[in-house]
Amino acid sequence: SLIYMNGKFVPQEQARVSVFDHGFLYGDGVFEGIRAYNGRVFKLKEHVDRLFDSAKAIDLNIGMTKEQMAEAILETLRVNNLTDAYIRPIVSRGDGDLGLDPRKCAKPNVYIIAKYWGSMYGDLYTVGLKAVTVGIRRVAPDALPPNIKSLNYLNNILAKIEANVKGGDEAIFLDSNGRVAEGSGDNIFVIKNGVVYTPPTIGNLKGITRATAIELLQEAKIPVKVEEIGLFDVYTADEIFVTGTAAEAAPVVYVDGRNIGNGKPGPITLDMVKRFEKLTSTTGTP
Ligand code: PLP
Repeated sequence: SLIYMNGKFVPQEQARVSVFDHGFLYGDGVFEGIRAYNGRVFKLKEHVDRLFDSAKAIDLNIGMTKEQMAEAILETLRVNNLTDAYIRPIVSRGDGDLGLDPRKCAKPNVYIIAKYWGSMYGDLYTVGLKAVTVGIRRVAPDALPPNIKSLNYLNNILAKIEANVKGGDEAIFLDSNGRVAEGSGDNIFVIKNGVVYTPPTIGNLKGITRATAIELLQEAKIPVKVEEIGLFDVYTADEIFVTGTAAEAAPVVYVDGRNIGNGKPGPITLDMVKRFEKLTSTTGTP
């Protein structure tokens, strides 16, 4: 495939970054994960806006306008003849020296990768995922704001390793106060007595799929509340689902050995999976 590198398209085999790229040396950079469905990019503006917000938060000037970034993303799809894809724009601080000082990096590096993408969880959308809570805590807002989609994903990778070891399809992060934060790559929704709860986005990523799910629930007149959630609420939930660009809307039916509800995806979750599928197949930027 062809990779966008600072304004040029380069064959994948030749798409190499410098060992002095501070994105590589220090995780100093930001990224996005975006999906294209049937030739249309889902929530393109929202993802470009979040990329620029992440960059702003780390005081990184991307050196492109949002319009140029959106066009570069669309062009990366076009040159690769992709209609169903996962798109990964990456902006690093750029090539510098071995010191931390970002002033040594003359200009950011902008890379965009687009790959064919079908479904992340396959059968699990109807069967449901097994999740486990992990001992590693989601990075605290006063340490590194989890709202920054930065190249430093070690926190999330440690959660994923723990989930793998414990036999979970996905990890559930708690924050340093023991409240439920999010998954390793998705936001979480917990349903009890017909009301849908999701934690506020202080201790997790401001998920674009999360915002979409809230809109879809409101459209369906299902009450949704943004509230702090504890482990008790998770274990005693009627239904749980997670949302993310890669995960889409996916049911969780088992957490830490407990069945959620009757251990099968519930009606509100299945309705959400369907509504989300309909939205992704009918909207987006061509
Ligand atoms: N939380 C984390 C840590 C993520 O990496 C992602 C994926 O982007 C999400 C949540 C879901 O966000 P979105 O729905 O915008 O993809």
